[in-house]
Amino acid sequence: MTVIVGGVAGGMSTATRLRRLDEDREIIVLERSGAVSFANCGLPYHVSGVIPERAALELQDPARLAARFRIDARVRSEVVAIDRAARRVTVRPAGGTDYELGYDELVLSPGAAPRLPDRVAPDAPLHALRTLDDLDAVMGAVDGLPSRARAVVIGGGYIGVEMADNLHRRGLATTIVQRSSRLIGGLDPEMAAPLAEHVLERGLRLRFGNAVTAVEARRVVLDDGSALPADLVIAAMGVVPESGLARAAGLEIGATGGIVVDESHRTSDPAIYAIGDAAEKRDPVDGSPRLVPLAGLANRHGRAVADAIAGRPSIAAPALGTAVIDVLGLTAASTGWSEEHARSRGIEVRVIHSHPLSHAGYFPGARPMSLKLVVDARTDRILGAQAVGTEGVARRIDVIATAMAANLAASALADLELAYAPQYGSAKDPVNMLGYIARNLADGEDATIQWHELDDAVADGAVLLDVRAAGQLAEGAIPGATWIPVEELRERADAYAGRRIVVHCRVGQGAHTAARLLASLGHDVVNLDGGYLTWRDGMRSVDHQQSTDATSADLRAA
Ligand code: FAD
Repeated sequence: MTVIVGGVAGGMSTATRLRRLDEDREIIVLERSGAVSFANCGLPYHVSGVIPERAALELQDPARLAARFRIDARVRSEVVAIDRAARRVTVRPAGGTDYELGYDELVLSPGAAPRLPDRVAPDAPLHALRTLDDLDAVMGAVDGLPSRARAVVIGGGYIGVEMADNLHRRGLATTIVQRSSRLIGGLDPEMAAPLAEHVLERGLRLRFGNAVTAVEARRVVLDDGSALPADLVIAAMGVVPESGLARAAGLEIGATGGIVVDESHRTSDPAIYAIGDAAEKRDPVDGSPRLVPLAGLANRHGRAVADAIAGRPSIAAPALGTAVIDVLGLTAASTGWSEEHARSRGIEVRVIHSHPLSHAGYFPGARPMSLKLVVDARTDRILGAQAVGTEGVARRIDVIATAMAANLAASALADLELAYAPQYGSAKDPVNMLGYIARNLADGEDATIQWHELDDAVADGAVLLDVRAAGQLAEGAIPGATWIPVEELRERADAYAGRRIVVHCRVGQGAHTAARLLASLGHDVVNLDGGYLTWRDGMRSVDHQQSTDATSADLRAA
């Protein structure tokens, strides 16, 4: 008999796959909440009515699971103890009496619990969103609020931003309180800055640089002593793996707080497997244990555990953490390591920014995007990638994630053969272009500096030349830059003989041509990676940081 703890993403994937592999096995799924196999990722969108029917979120129910798969799924049934020696679990049915169940294999997929503020008054309007029960509670609270009631979302990560988006759509005056000065923590600052600008333009409020210390009946109190009025508060401060049951049973728990598993998802007890948000994953770059609370991994690993139980062992690939989010109409996606993370690990990085169009510029409807590739400068290995834009963003990150999974070098992106017609991409796809730039850098054909290195370069005596076309200047300029269009460079470059030249254009491409020209004339030249647009976004991120440091005021007011 196989007993599964947790009946949603990971647990139910195990159960249904196992039934397909083994018709005779007894399979029991125990779920603490009132529903199994619900669509966690869709929950925020019912709050606004984007997903109008609650029933659409319930993908299966115990009756259908019994009829179709002969799976015994028991809701409102919490597993409260594991007796490993006897291979038995203790089940606590809501309102009923504890009972025991024996198992041959036990699969733990209990997920992760939302972090909550330390001080919460008994009458505080605080909610977190994890289960359908939670959604019902949020809907009950929202339905009772007057229009233009005030909502505070604590946390500007994936779930926080999605909840803020949907509360805003619902008509609530919504503020996100975020301890750092950027939304979506996994993004580097210059990639995240446009998201903050975008949500502010759409009427959300952001309070960066503050943590919530208490939630009271009608307000949240922040760590600088100020308070925000709040008729509804959503805790979206991240999640902690639900490893308490495993810990109490003496299973090995890692420094991350997640359950330690091997490459076949086995815990320190060979009869017990763990998957999903509660279990540690393997980092793709350095192999270290990490937590990656994402649905795709939980589903995939659920299937893999069923294979292992049925005698078809499979080895789990490292977890890249590939993720995507819709931020009020702007898409942000990422995979692997950020530049910040790589640098914090002491890795010498090669960073590439580009600002391509989603498809051929001559075909109507092309939309701009920002792409970033983080590469190990010593090996040309892709460490990670990020993208912000609208159309085509997720596709580019998926291609790069696939390249990473296949251990392709950054330069090899140049050679990928990707589907092309003008309404979908470019004959040189933005991913190919990243590969060309990576190859140029690896070959020493181009040298770049990053937006955050510019001030130091200028302080060291470099001259900054702006080679944009005249029509692009209205967008703004980098202070201290001298404008020389590429066409005039040959004649005017002598003036800078003996000085290092930093050359920039709008997105980096024209400056590459200029840098090649200057280098051939004997100048010491570097290209400002990503051009004016990346520098501008980087400076916006500095502004967000400084406005929080200086005033602790919300950015809307600043
Ligand atoms: P879950 O799916 O959370 O299932 C665990 C279940 O175990 C819970 O229902 C819990 O009640 C039950 N349980 C816990 N302990 C016990 C016990 N002792 N006994 C019985 N039952 C127990 N990921 C993405 O990749 N993309 C998204 O867009 C996305 N959006 C999300 C939006 C929201 C609002 C939330 C909450 C999550 C989102 N996620 C998303 C994350 C994704 O849902 C999780 O990574 C995934 O569900 C993890 O699967 P799991 O099986 O580990 O845990």
